Amino acid sequence: MNVTDLLNSVPTGLWHGGRSAPSESGRTFDVVNPATGEVLVAVANATPADATAALDAASAVADEWAATPPRRRADVLRAAFDAVTARADDFALLMTLEMGKVLAESRGEVTYGAEFLRWFSEEAVRIGGRTATAPGGTGEIAVVKEPVGPCLAITPWNFPLAMGTRKIGPALAAGCTVIVKPAEDTPLTMLLLAQVFAEAGLPPGVLSVLPTLDAPAVVAGLMDDPRLRKVSFTGSTGVGKILLAQAANNVLRTSMELGGSAPFLVFDDADLDKAVDGAMLAKMRNGGEACTAANRILVQNGIREAFTAKLTERVAAMRVGPGWEETSAIGPIINAEQRGSIAALVDEAVAAGATVRTGGRPVDGAGFFYEPTVVDDLPDGARIRREEIFGPVAAIVGFETEEEAIALANDTEYGLAAYFFTENLGRAQRLARALQAGMVGVNRGVISDPAAPFGGIKQSGLGSEGGSEGIEEYLNTKYIALPPV
Ligand code: NAD
Repeated sequence: MNVTDLLNSVPTGLWHGGRSAPSESGRTFDVVNPATGEVLVAVANATPADATAALDAASAVADEWAATPPRRRADVLRAAFDAVTARADDFALLMTLEMGKVLAESRGEVTYGAEFLRWFSEEAVRIGGRTATAPGGTGEIAVVKEPVGPCLAITPWNFPLAMGTRKIGPALAAGCTVIVKPAEDTPLTMLLLAQVFAEAGLPPGVLSVLPTLDAPAVVAGLMDDPRLRKVSFTGSTGVGKILLAQAANNVLRTSMELGGSAPFLVFDDADLDKAVDGAMLAKMRNGGEACTAANRILVQNGIREAFTAKLTERVAAMRVGPGWEETSAIGPIINAEQRGSIAALVDEAVAAGATVRTGGRPVDGAGFFYEPTVVDDLPDGARIRREEIFGPVAAIVGFETEEEAIALANDTEYGLAAYFFTENLGRAQRLARALQAGMVGVNRGVISDPAAPFGGIKQSGLGSEGGSEGIEEYLNTKYIALPPV
């Protein structure tokens, strides 16, 4: 489909009750193409009253969906997987238009994001339980799993499809109804997905999508309503803390996928070329706008100059441009504000003595582009060493010993991902245990896999998405006490 046809085909109303509808207020807001700064299309702007209507629908069908046989729920998820895969080009182009990433990466996200639907279609029919005899012979213990009930899924803009399917897949598989509040910058992908689900046979009311510019009020209204039973959030740690406090009111189940500051360690004994390849993936994939992005590249001093020179050569060769041009290696930053934050981190570090090896500036002209950048010699107190960069900036710090590397790596309130490169097996085993992170990459720069549990520790979050662990987030455990046999 060409761009005009695609944009004309995307539902731009709120999605609830199995169809696209305007907001009760009649208000809309613009979705902007970050590569041009131009408006793509306007979408309905949900109000708290719209959210209540979506929760009415989600509650009305909750029991029926929970009682739908697992095989039938699995069939709907599998049909949605097939439909997303069949429309991979449309989903990819839509993500490139609203989020900016290059088409090859959007295609990669379609594969990754759709896989959560297939994986959880397979998990839906394996929800188990257990039985046991009470040790004293006083009775029988039966343990069953039940869907938690209506869920709210709040997603960020950086992976417009996958951050949604990673929640919707397990929730529907478990028998929960879901309301999605997509990021305001990228609501189109979720709206298209909702339409695809309806075509795949999902009953009306089971899935709603509420784009809004007023997230705090819409979300607070839903979380105050006792019919909602769960909130699953992916986004910044700051907003995660607000939601955790709000969740306390009704003691909601929560899953929190929050910010990160992944250390990427390169030791003198690493395979240099593999380490540079890994750093390119861990840092520049998705334009650096990933929670798992290598935020601090820690390099042993013996290999530091060789590594930095090779990485700089690769980064300097990346062509910046609109994601739909095949020659572009890196697209725009999501919006002007985010680009300003990246520029401020780099500018402050440089003012304090850091060295720019390549890049280091916003690109003049339309859209929100920032040059792919390598900065070295970062002073101790530099903000860029502590805060999430969320952009195409490789920040290099040297170290001498393994102990120093571990201490530097763990010196953060975050604990999402960590990576290291070494050819020494003993060191690899020590590091895999010593690094305080929910996910560790050993000699590899990409770790996400729908079949593996994705999640952080410390202030990077609570719970896991994906793997056989992911569905547990949407299931309650019930113990049924039976008399002795
Ligand atoms: P954000 O926290 O600003 O927004 C995320 C979502 O929360 C959006 O939908 C937004 O509208 C909504 N929101 C914002 N304020 C809210 C409030 N007061 N009440 C209710 N909802 C609110 O994050 P972002 O800028 O969209 O995404 C970037 C962040 O997401 C980074 O910190 C990144 O590390 C994190 N992230 C984490 C993971 C993970 O799996 N751990 C994955 C991707 C992104």
